[in-house]
Amino acid sequence: MADFQAQIKADIALNGPMRLDIFFGRCVSDYYANHHIFGAKGDFVTAPEISQCFGEVIGAWVVARWHDLGCPAAFHLIECGPGNGTLMADILRVTRHVPSFHCALRLCFIETSPALRARQKTAVEACSARDVQWCDDINDMKTEYPVILIANEFLDALSIRQIIYNNESWAERAVGVRNDQLVWGYMPLLDIPHVDLFEKTKPKQGAVFEFSPRRELFVAQVKAMIAMQKGAALFVDYGHGVSDYGDTVQAVKSHKFVDPLEYAGNADLTSHVDFEPLLRHCVGHCDFVKQTEFLQRNGIEARRDAIMKNASTAQRDDIEKAVHRLCHEDEMGTLFKVMECRWYP
Ligand code: SAH
Repeated sequence: MADFQAQIKADIALNGPMRLDIFFGRCVSDYYANHHIFGAKGDFVTAPEISQCFGEVIGAWVVARWHDLGCPAAFHLIECGPGNGTLMADILRVTRHVPSFHCALRLCFIETSPALRARQKTAVEACSARDVQWCDDINDMKTEYPVILIANEFLDALSIRQIIYNNESWAERAVGVRNDQLVWGYMPLLDIPHVDLFEKTKPKQGAVFEFSPRRELFVAQVKAMIAMQKGAALFVDYGHGVSDYGDTVQAVKSHKFVDPLEYAGNADLTSHVDFEPLLRHCVGHCDFVKQTEFLQRNGIEARRDAIMKNASTAQRDDIEKAVHRLCHEDEMGTLFKVMECRWYP
């Protein structure tokens, strides 16, 4: 961490204040390359690590889309930011008896962290996955097959910009150095984004607005790829469906919120996902619902009941709590949203 922060400071000394999106991208990439991240002993827990039911429901969703596509003899299943590989391992396990499905499956992971790629390899090889491919970026992925793409808590890790409104004008959030410490600051905003919200609700003094060209580019690339080959995409993340003002940048370390600058490179840096501009890229092809609705509609209760059958009383209690955590409105059920897109008739 000390080295990483020293590099950021040296960069700022040389080039001046660093725009938030540049800082964000560098923190995320350093963090995922160097830390033990997921699970009770790590920094945070994601849905697939909470319960196998999550991956099993997504597995059923993937099979349903493959059927919609006419059960092609070959298709690409792409997962973006697979972390430990738990979600894909659950998908592979739950679909292993679906006739012809595993033979048709070509697996591709979009992942930049070498350490996590190694964990993903171990996880999917244990499920007898063959022909697995890794790419750093969705743009490196070439396919002539239909595509089914999934991304759980991936968009929140892509960088954002933040602007603040003061004295009738906008300035851009940046990171500087004072007394050898990283500090927040602002720099002139060179390109004001066109946002409908600014016309609907005039920003108040001090209003913060976040936008993410990086997330929009990513969704546009997914759309371009899938619209050409036919297929479907599923994005699950915490966030909102309508753009609004507010600062949602957060850093999490050992399950607690920490200072993003003090812990730069040593904590999970994210922000809530504003789905409104992402949905606009996929108009006419998209469904947008709360996680609880998606999981219930796709059979999480049946999955829960199935695994409870062979469980001990203590295990049943754990399974119940885990599913409650995924679905309840005070837990992950409504904060998390699902954007489900289909590019086929
Ligand atoms: N989907 C997993 C992990 C989410 S954490 C789960 O639900 O458990 C975010 C994941 O995205 C990590 O695997 C991280 O290494 C990867 N990642 C973050 N930024 C990335 C980028 N720009 N390109 C590719 N992968 C990235």
